[in-house]
Amino acid sequence: MSGQSIYKFKGRTEHSAPVIGGSLYLWAGNQPGLPGVHDSPQKRKLTSTVETFSFSSARWSSHLTRGTPPLGVVGYSCTTFHSNIYYYAGWCGHDHCYHNSLNVLNTLTMSWTQLHPNDESMMKKGYGGMLSLEFEGTDYLFMVGGRGTAPAVKHRQFQYDQLKSGRVQTNEQLLYNLSNGQFTVPSVSGQCCPPTSSFTVNKINQNKGIMLGGLVTDYDGFSFPTNNVYIFNVTHNTIVSYHVQYIFYNLGISFITKR
Ligand SMILES: [Zn+2]
Repeated sequence: MSGQSIYKFKGRTEHSAPVIGGSLYLWAGNQPGLPGVHDSPQKRKLTSTVETFSFSSARWSSHLTRGTPPLGVVGYSCTTFHSNIYYYAGWCGHDHCYHNSLNVLNTLTMSWTQLHPNDESMMKKGYGGMLSLEFEGTDYLFMVGGRGTAPAVKHRQFQYDQLKSGRVQTNEQLLYNLSNGQFTVPSVSGQCCPPTSSFTVNKINQNKGIMLGGLVTDYDGFSFPTNNVYIFNVTHNTIVSYHVQYIFYNLGISFITKR
């Protein structure tokens, strides 16, 4: 590295860093200097930057994006499809302010487009998960779980646990059709996961995914980590079927989450 300055990025947590092609893309997340406000020029300046790591050159670089980045900057859900990175929902960085807008970053043009604005009719949340899936020849985004604020509309097939922290934890699931831009609320069959947040979710194949761990709700309204594993299969755009692959005994270590 002689003669080259080593790029340093700020410490980061509650972020995602997806890989597309030969690069890793790092956007937002909780970090030193993140203004604890809804919106400000400083926050926009910070969130208008995407840092990339090139595997071929082993170098970090910083890119200014065009368009308007979303405000759900912490604990957002993130997935990739072709050259796009999709960002859904997230915590705003202050108080009980959560978002549920859907945004896409085109990594070829490094520009943001909002696909769906914040929507009061759906739950606003962070710490959920999202995958891109394909079935019946159509591409979808699949969103699951998270915690946030009580929604105006609660769907009967899902649960919404009231937490002592004032937040609500859910197992709510959504499908977003990438062709027509419509959200649908799927029905579930089999054994659905309980309300869960801060888990991992990964794709197994085109229409199958796996959820691991996360925070679930105890009887007192606190969250504790679980080692549940759920495999789910999206068979058509109104059915998400789950089966439990393993449920181990929970150690029951309770702790209070701040958000
Ligand atoms: Zn806010």
